[in-house]
Amino acid sequence: MPKDTQSNRDPRYDILFDKVRIGPVTAPNRFYQVPHCNGGGYRDPTAVAEMRRMKAEGGWGVIFTEQVEMHQTSEITPFIELRLWEDKDIPGLARMAEAAKSKGALAGIELAYSGVNGSNLYTKEVPRGPMSSPILTFFKDPVSTRAMDKEDIRDLRRWHLNAYKRAKTAGFDLIELYGAHGFGIIQHFLSPLTNQRSDEYGGSLENRSRLFRELISDAKDAIGDTMGVAVRLSLNEMGGFENSEVRDFIGMHGDLPDLWDLGHGSWEDCSGPSRFVEEGAQEPLVSGIKRLTPKPVVGVGRFTSPDAMVSQIKRGILDFIGAARPSIADPFIPKKIDEGRIEDIRECIGCNICVTGDMTMSISRCTQNPTFMEEWRKGWHPERFAAKGATDTVLVIGAGPAGLEAARVAAMRGYEVAIAEAGTELGGRARLESRLPGLSAWGRVRDYRAHQIGKLANVNVYFDSRLTAQDVLDFGFQNVAIATGSTWRRDGVARFNLTPIAIDPAMPTLTPDDIMAGRQPAPGSEVLLYDDDHYYMGGVLAEVLVKTGCKVTLVTPSNLVSEWTLNTLEQKRIQSRMIELGVTIITAQGVTAVGPRGVTLGCTFTARAREVACEAVVLVTSRLPDDRLWHDLKAREGEWATAGIRSIERIGDADAPAPIAWATYAGHRFARELDQPDRGDALSFRREVTELAPWDVSA
Ligand code: ADP
Ligand code: SF4
Repeated sequence: MPKDTQSNRDPRYDILFDKVRIGPVTAPNRFYQVPHCNGGGYRDPTAVAEMRRMKAEGGWGVIFTEQVEMHQTSEITPFIELRLWEDKDIPGLARMAEAAKSKGALAGIELAYSGVNGSNLYTKEVPRGPMSSPILTFFKDPVSTRAMDKEDIRDLRRWHLNAYKRAKTAGFDLIELYGAHGFGIIQHFLSPLTNQRSDEYGGSLENRSRLFRELISDAKDAIGDTMGVAVRLSLNEMGGFENSEVRDFIGMHGDLPDLWDLGHGSWEDCSGPSRFVEEGAQEPLVSGIKRLTPKPVVGVGRFTSPDAMVSQIKRGILDFIGAARPSIADPFIPKKIDEGRIEDIRECIGCNICVTGDMTMSISRCTQNPTFMEEWRKGWHPERFAAKGATDTVLVIGAGPAGLEAARVAAMRGYEVAIAEAGTELGGRARLESRLPGLSAWGRVRDYRAHQIGKLANVNVYFDSRLTAQDVLDFGFQNVAIATGSTWRRDGVARFNLTPIAIDPAMPTLTPDDIMAGRQPAPGSEVLLYDDDHYYMGGVLAEVLVKTGCKVTLVTPSNLVSEWTLNTLEQKRIQSRMIELGVTIITAQGVTAVGPRGVTLGCTFTARAREVACEAVVLVTSRLPDDRLWHDLKAREGEWATAGIRSIERIGDADAPAPIAWATYAGHRFARELDQPDRGDALSFRREVTELAPWDVSA
């Protein structure tokens, strides 16, 4: 792509801006936003459209929808994706296509027929798959598929044709058939695990590929003159459609689709968290595939570095840089590379909080980009901010994720900002936790903000400044954000114990704060780690303790270690690491008392008690806000006006402890809403309400 007049691009990155043909259409560059969920889907279509528009503005060359359920006989309720079941669904999708194309990108739609992954809980239709088998979903729904006969296959081809035509009417440039992550019918037919048919659709690779050939050929005949026809496949299904066979398959059909979009394996592999999966981890699986096909190849790998991207292209591994999470954390990556602003890229930290929006059917958040999915709901642009309002000054107390984000955004709006930090470094919990095993990427939360703040003349940082209420009143800043964080509890209170438990002072009892501050149980001692938090901290600290030579027993009232990480797609890896490290795992038990030589456990089902001996206890239970400063100031509210103070708010963990994404969101919101009119009881965001159908009571 010729550089535009604004471009300050390093010529090394020119190759990323080459145009690339995809069948009858041409992508303006090599930045390919692969389909990704967002928890909004059909419930929040305009929020989704505006989120995609941001990628267009940020310079992505190809922008996809999330998976679109293409027929009522295959849907994945309760997960909220998109639907293209009838013409009625076209306008919502057309809005997304229009937003994606608004700056010259190609708009793509990912069509999914979910086969053995769709339990049809909403439509109550009978699921269909290559053979009769249990449905394979996160919830292990107790239903099975009907083995598709020839008539079912004819129906499936016709339904695909209908979807192709509807996608065209909606204005998309590309369709991509979903055959990856175990979520699409193409993979179900290709895999010897889910296809054990004995007719011409089963057995040999040639036969298992038949449905794929038919669906792609039908697409090319129907819409291939104007639309690109792509397929999304997994590079390696363990024990099934494995990498060597994937290569044979691509070799056999190299010419058929207009593009190969290649994911890793399962969704857990493809969206591997940074704790377990490095940037570019897919390379050994995708390397060499370009030689098997004349068509462009897309791959992913949580790419945030332009050098890594260029290397993939120059070494002939990929034609397009596929990205979901990097494009969520920073929708403006292409533009920033083009403008020579590499250091402004807000790098994804690989925490998978975005995935939890889909897994909890809520709406996605992003730790690094608090504007994600708020582009329309709140009118937040990731790179543009309204000029400041009537007041001029902001004091941010605490330089953790909440405080740093509040300071950054307030400064971008033009306020004079001071950050007072009790310690001597920026980053708060992000800095501390980034030293734990596997969490170094957490440091990016601090690094991005520290860099941005460092460039702004209107932010001053004061270290060694543990402020009191009197200090705040003396300073007289007009707006104050109290971002003083939180502390892990020492009394066992969380979900299993709602009130404090008895703890014998003779037993060394530690919290995550102690361990992060370097206070550890004696090396070689028997440590019982009690995890009633259920997120990453328990498992990570067990790893720390094992590495310092302790013998660790992990007790949790859940049935799984780090159960909430099912939502971040890392639970299996965490539990397997615990097993590999030799951690003794006790599930479905809560600690009811800590004695001088051990703990008493209670069974979560029967309440039966059990004693377990240990030499130290680590309580990973819950956190309390460090809100003393807030309460001290609140008690002196009558003095605020005389001191020149217009507003004081507590934000992030100091308000209500939660994952880091909640803190960056709170900081962002604080700064966005400075000097905004009070909305009273009005909803704090825009939403869409399903249009009511005509109501014929006599029918
Ligand atoms: P959050 O996740 O909400 O941003 P953190 O715990 O990461 O919270 O960060 C809180 C920060 O606030 C820490 O760096 C801590 O040193 C600092 N802090 C706590 N109390 C005070 C205080 N009274 N004055 C200044 N800084 C404080
Ligand atoms: Fe990356 Fe985490 Fe943001 Fe997802 S939530 S895009 S993994 S930083």
